[in-house]
Amino acid sequence: MKSIIAFCLFLWTAQAFEYDLTPVKVSEDVHCFFGAPENITQENGGNMVNTCFVQTKEGFVVIDSGPTFGYAQEAYAQMQKIKNLPVKVVINTHEHDDHWLGNSFYKSKGALLMGPRTYEQNVIPGMSTRMQRSVGEETYTGTKVVKLDKIVDTHYAFTLGDTVFELKKLVEKAHTQGDLVVYLPQKKVIFTGDLVFNDRLSSIRDGSIIGSLKALDLIDSMQAQVIVGGHGYVTDANATVSLRRYLSEMKKQILEALSNDVSIDQITKHVTMPEYKNMKLYDVLHDRNVFEAYRELEMYDEDEE
Ligand SMILES: [Zn+2]
Repeated sequence: MKSIIAFCLFLWTAQAFEYDLTPVKVSEDVHCFFGAPENITQENGGNMVNTCFVQTKEGFVVIDSGPTFGYAQEAYAQMQKIKNLPVKVVINTHEHDDHWLGNSFYKSKGALLMGPRTYEQNVIPGMSTRMQRSVGEETYTGTKVVKLDKIVDTHYAFTLGDTVFELKKLVEKAHTQGDLVVYLPQKKVIFTGDLVFNDRLSSIRDGSIIGSLKALDLIDSMQAQVIVGGHGYVTDANATVSLRRYLSEMKKQILEALSNDVSIDQITKHVTMPEYKNMKLYDVLHDRNVFEAYRELEMYDEDEE
């Protein structure tokens, strides 16, 4: 009988989309949900992004709120299983919508929303989103675009419980023009947002290849023990290796092509980097990355560094 009631309750409360989120412990009191190394699809419901939560004595701090209201709701339920505590702060690493569309859920729970200036500039309440178009209305149910409570320009630190959180903008333009990292100095854990990708290719369409490489160097110089990127499963001190290798090789090949007068129309045929063909999202992102990097490197003078 009990199981029949439970089953009926399940049907009653069943969401249009089940994310089946499972928290993975990456450090003491730090857990993450790892998304698939894919593009956004109806099938994954936008669960192709990494989001994390840090437990403190006074409550949770969430880093990136995920792709939908429903996702954040499931993430919150998983947190409550670990410890019955409120979510006090949500930090958004950058303006791309797979990272913050869970904000309205946490706002409804009383959390303070923080993020970069570019969120304020580009995210407008009521606007339609790429996520909405990609996952469909059912999965998107309840999702609202909301404003931040606190904008971080270059640097901000706060303590919750006894845990120190440092938010920093490392370079002017890297993955976007407003990427924040979140560093926990006591735990030597850094959340880098999309400054770090692994297990799939990154996109540099809104950013800079030079800035991205600089950001990776700065992240490594912090000597964190745990580095959690916005996408991909590698979280040890080598998490930056894969993206650095890809971007450095691309930079080298494009600079060579430029010195041989290869035109922008021809560049994607020259810089194919076949060793990355089996990397997830190569077909979708590689040519565009080469094209964008070419436009940037055309103007680039290494001696001005
Ligand atoms: Zn992303």
